[in-house]
Amino acid sequence: MPEALLRVESLDAGYQGSPVVRDLSLHVDRGEVVALLGPNGAGKTTTLGTIAGLLPCIGGAVKLDGEDIGGVRAYKLARRGISLVPEGRSLFFGLTVREHLKLAETKGSLQRDQLLELLPELSKCLDRKAGVLSGGEQQMLAVGRALVSAPRLLLVDEMSLGLAPVIVERLLPILRRVAADIGAGVLFVEQHVSLALEVADRAYVLSHGRLVLEGAAADLRGRRELLRSSYLGDA
Ligand code: ATP
Repeated sequence: MPEALLRVESLDAGYQGSPVVRDLSLHVDRGEVVALLGPNGAGKTTTLGTIAGLLPCIGGAVKLDGEDIGGVRAYKLARRGISLVPEGRSLFFGLTVREHLKLAETKGSLQRDQLLELLPELSKCLDRKAGVLSGGEQQMLAVGRALVSAPRLLLVDEMSLGLAPVIVERLLPILRRVAADIGAGVLFVEQHVSLALEVADRAYVLSHGRLVLEGAAADLRGRRELLRSSYLGDA
């Protein structure tokens, strides 16, 4: 069996040495879209931050292509193909879309026209400053900026935060195209469970820092009661 792109093994992760995520195991394959779900405070952002190297791995292991990357700094992991789209987007409001993309471009990166084909909305606002874009356009820019570094693994935290459902319906399927068109693995955190399960191949559900449910998105879509109870923490 080929090695998974990302493999998290019995991970303990948290802050100042105290784990808030415990004994978490998950994996993401190349070209696969995986949702990380769960109620507020379940540990989803902590998990993404740890995989991206922003937080230390307290226990267990994080492996990229079979190689242990626990403890490797975020900027080094970015060079190795892990790209994080953080909650809140982290844009520079005074810089234009074009400037954001230029700053993020690296050698061997996705060609600009290829990116604009994936995110056509961005081509209409290349010379506008991030601060005047709509919420949906800002989120598209945050994803676009992550994509110009041609990631192997794209981590996306709450893309839909503060956006109208109609915008979310447009944004989430982009993750499928990222996986299909550039072959990246995608791990995304999403509060809109039904939409997430339409886009994802598989999903993991965290509650109180522990994995309570996992499975193929198609199976989980048909098991709403089980999902609901795992959100309430009594699965
Ligand atoms: P949300 O949807 O609210 O962002 P989440 O599932 O992403 O939830 P996390 O943000 O990972 O959850 O938080 C998990 C736990 O870690 C929570 O109990 C939270 O209070 C705690 N926590 C988050 N950030 C810190 C921090 N910087 N220092 C200490 N504890 C933190």
